[in-house]
Amino acid sequence: MTIAKSGVEGAKVSQVPLLDIGRGNAPLKEEFMAAFESVLDSGRFLFGPDVFQLEESCAAASQTKFGIGCASGSDALLLSMMALDIGPGDEVLVPSFTFFATASCVWRLGAKPVFVDIEPTSFNIDPARIQEQITPNTKAIIPVHLFGQCADMAAINKIAQMHNIPVIEDAAQAILSEQNGHRAGSMSLAGCISFYPTKNLGGMGDGGMLVTSDEAFAAKLKLLRGHGMEPRYYHQVVGINSRLDTLQAAALNVKMKHMAEWTEMRRQNALRYHQLFGQCGLDLVLKLPTELPGYHHVWNQYTVRVPRGGRDSLRKHLADLKVGSEIYYPVPLHKQQCFASLKEELAPLPETDKAAEEVLALPIFPELTEAEQRLVVSSIAQYYGIEANIDATPQRKSA
Ligand SMILES: *Cc1c(COP(=O)(O)O)cnc(C)c1O
Repeated sequence: MTIAKSGVEGAKVSQVPLLDIGRGNAPLKEEFMAAFESVLDSGRFLFGPDVFQLEESCAAASQTKFGIGCASGSDALLLSMMALDIGPGDEVLVPSFTFFATASCVWRLGAKPVFVDIEPTSFNIDPARIQEQITPNTKAIIPVHLFGQCADMAAINKIAQMHNIPVIEDAAQAILSEQNGHRAGSMSLAGCISFYPTKNLGGMGDGGMLVTSDEAFAAKLKLLRGHGMEPRYYHQVVGINSRLDTLQAAALNVKMKHMAEWTEMRRQNALRYHQLFGQCGLDLVLKLPTELPGYHHVWNQYTVRVPRGGRDSLRKHLADLKVGSEIYYPVPLHKQQCFASLKEELAPLPETDKAAEEVLALPIFPELTEAEQRLVVSSIAQYYGIEANIDATPQRKSA
């Protein structure tokens, strides 16, 4: 039996897949099986030693003191909002250009997500726009480290401290990412990590983790993830059931050992795209993603901008050539049907709207080969009728 080659939720056979999870997992199969066997033998399916080990290693990887495992990145966000006692009448500043969970955690508690525009180069929440949206009801800010590059936490924290507003990092896509040497998750009250299979540390199902250095906040999060129960069958507060399975943690512990190496491979792939796109002049046609000075990008996604309405037809051209790509995210949150009631008070979000029309994510996973990257680039060059001096045969590694 072999480990499936395809993606997460069923993928088609591609010449160059957007993501091939099997390439990372297959070489570790024996290790996974041994880890699963020891969980099976122990019978400790919840709160087994693997969970504590992962909590410790995630805390360390995030330069924080405590890790609190939970069922998903979405739950990590929800728990952080619960621990801040967010509720009706409260406003929480979030980007609109993000995955749904960044805002649903606010909405589910009866509070109002207030959408803030992004900074066009990084795709991340714009600190200048944050300032404008703060009201006496603002009770938290959730910057997202989108695609693997940190939001400008230095600027965000300055504003937040001025107004005494807690900040929670949505670090779902950004484990090991840094700004000014500070890791994602360590630059605010707490960071929320996701182990969804497409994330840089992807599990074999759902899982999530909160990281924080605030001992009291960590204790509150632990209480809330376990029904607010302490001691057993005595409920101090109403929490939820959100646990990280030991089996899941066992798989993630195996993968955690490779995170530094896999992150470096993503960074090399980003560098190579940069060189290849530059070689054929496509850097003048597309807007390539960049690593901002002082940042350490972990490239969960390599997202280019396709200007002048060409994105969807380029994507179709790539699909015809079986080159994987994806749009993160086609409909920004402020345009989602479920948030229609927020429309009246909405600030204009021109950069968010523009990004949603232009972005296209290309394959960047660690094991992507140079030949595959050349094929991606030459396929795009072909679309634009550019004579690409890039053949698809791999050459000596330039890195
Ligand atoms: C993946 C993701 C989440 C949610 O994580 P899950 O583990 O899938 O619940 C939240 N925010 C962002 C930005 C994400 O990319």
